[in-house]
Amino acid sequence: MKNKKALCYVALLALMVWCIKGFWSNNTVKVKPLELDQSQQEFQQQVNRDDLLRKEHEISTLKVEMARLKMESSKCGLESKFSPEIPKIYAITPTHYRAVQKAELTRLSHTLMLVPNLHWVVVEDAESKTDLVTKLLAKTGMSYSHLNAATPKSWKPKAKEPRWVKPRGVLQRNTALQWLRDNVSPNEDGVIYFVDDDNSYSLEVFEEMRYLKGVGVWPVGLVGGLMVERPKINAEGKVTGWLTVWSPNRPFAIDMAGFAINLKLFHSKPNGKFSFESEKGYQESELLKHFVGSLNELEVKADNCTKVFVWHTRTEQANLAQEIKLRKENKPRSDIGIEV
Ligand code: UDP
Ligand code: MN
Repeated sequence: MKNKKALCYVALLALMVWCIKGFWSNNTVKVKPLELDQSQQEFQQQVNRDDLLRKEHEISTLKVEMARLKMESSKCGLESKFSPEIPKIYAITPTHYRAVQKAELTRLSHTLMLVPNLHWVVVEDAESKTDLVTKLLAKTGMSYSHLNAATPKSWKPKAKEPRWVKPRGVLQRNTALQWLRDNVSPNEDGVIYFVDDDNSYSLEVFEEMRYLKGVGVWPVGLVGGLMVERPKINAEGKVTGWLTVWSPNRPFAIDMAGFAINLKLFHSKPNGKFSFESEKGYQESELLKHFVGSLNELEVKADNCTKVFVWHTRTEQANLAQEIKLRKENKPRSDIGIEV
């Protein structure tokens, strides 16, 4: 009897073990393929995600390439901007190397590229033409001439001089004027305008000057310590003087950006150029005295000199404190192999 009971217990135990084992093995048999499916699914999902990312990357690369090609093709359209029936604008830009030069010239070129029939005369203040300016000009697709003329060292500011008191860009502007005398026909219809690399220009200013017969004038914003400097205009629409505070008695108290000269008039006065001897602020007067006999002759532009289409902006010097630190510590500079 006792044996029978023990036998029953053993049988029951065996049954239980068998059941548990069966359940367990069933479970593992069922779970195992499920686990495999899940990881396979996850793997597949990851592959899909990677694929999607790759495709998105390809699409965005193609979009950038498309935009670049569009830009290139719009440059071909620049040729259609060559319209021989309208007078040509010769824009003269002196430029010198500093950290912000490429940024300035890029900004300026993107304005000038929009002006029909404009020839850009860029004069580098450098012993020889630099790669940076050469490549930048070639990339614009514009009509341009690239010159250089280095300002003598004795003219440059001394190490601790905060701002250069001597007139800037004089030699370069004269080099451009000489180039015009030597290379542009005196019979051509056109105008000459001095375009500094750091000023800001509205496209309107170029259309104001295009048909000048002599010398035209207009207001310049943010110059001479004022919001705007401009010619004083009388009821007859003639210039009678200058609305400036700084040195108002200059014969032409006007910034370089505030006038343009007809090309034929320029050619008719072979001595018309800037002078190194002029006092500060007298460069414009020095040049204009060759072309204008009296204020009465000036052509008043920009809606009777009531509109500002050009600003004498100045770019802050780049903060390169960390770059200087790198150099002091003999560490590699940040722009190795990359033109900024
Ligand atoms: N410039 C130059 N060499 C220099 C300094 C200036 O060719 O050593 C150029 C400069 O790039 C700019 C023009 O001359 O196109 C006028 O200089 P800047 O803007 O410094 O003078 P600002 O009229 O603002 O005082
Ligand atoms: Mn400037």
